[in-house]
Amino acid sequence: MRTPFVAGNWKMNKTIAETRELVFKLSMKLRDIHGVEKVLCPPFMSLMAASALLEGAGIGLGAQNMHWEEKGAFTGEVSPVMVKELCKYVILGHSERRAYFNETDDIVNRKLISAQTFDLTPIVCVGETLEQYESKLTREVVSRQTSQSLRDVSPAFAQRIVVAYEPVWAIGTGKASNGLEANAVVKDVIRPALAKLFGDETAQAIRVLYGGSVTSANASEFFGQPDIDGALVGGASLKIDEFVAITQAAVI
Ligand code: PEP
Repeated sequence: MRTPFVAGNWKMNKTIAETRELVFKLSMKLRDIHGVEKVLCPPFMSLMAASALLEGAGIGLGAQNMHWEEKGAFTGEVSPVMVKELCKYVILGHSERRAYFNETDDIVNRKLISAQTFDLTPIVCVGETLEQYESKLTREVVSRQTSQSLRDVSPAFAQRIVVAYEPVWAIGTGKASNGLEANAVVKDVIRPALAKLFGDETAQAIRVLYGGSVTSANASEFFGQPDIDGALVGGASLKIDEFVAITQAAVI
């Protein structure tokens, strides 16, 4: 039995003051929803403010990225030790990081190994581009991303990993995939790749989310699928009623 999981990726949105307002309002409503693991991922600058407001609310806090090194001469970067001071979770390998900041599977994997070292729960993103989707390369691409991004960690740690299947063509476009198609990728591509890395039992225990234009209108279609355990939500996570309704829909 996998506990449903819903995370909000705020991307580069909200100042510290705006974060305080949104976190306060969200937490008032989300704290009463049980049976789903809830995580908010505001920008680095707002993590401290969010952390103070979320104390005791039963809502987790995540960073949107981190460096893999513990410390050193990496101007502008944030280390896993720093993330760990405020967060339990970290998003790794989001497609925007892969596309705009040249993050490869190898870099994502280094960050994952670092998450293991520093006891962070990673949300690892995989997903094909529109061009790959149209060329029918989804399975090949997602399988490779999963195998290469998630290699070389222990099966015990692997159970904590959350994978987000996010077709790039569905992110921020308002053009979500559909439940059956997304479930097929999770069931036939992601879980088999996880099984090869960690064995069947662990592969079945790992939560796999769908992400890409999830709204309160389509969330149940994804959550109703047997292999989809929740959602990574971008745009709709900034709208209180939308994110609350999506979170509520994830409760089994
Ligand atoms: C995301 O940023 O991970 C995402 C899925 O965005 P959106 O929900 O806006 O498509």
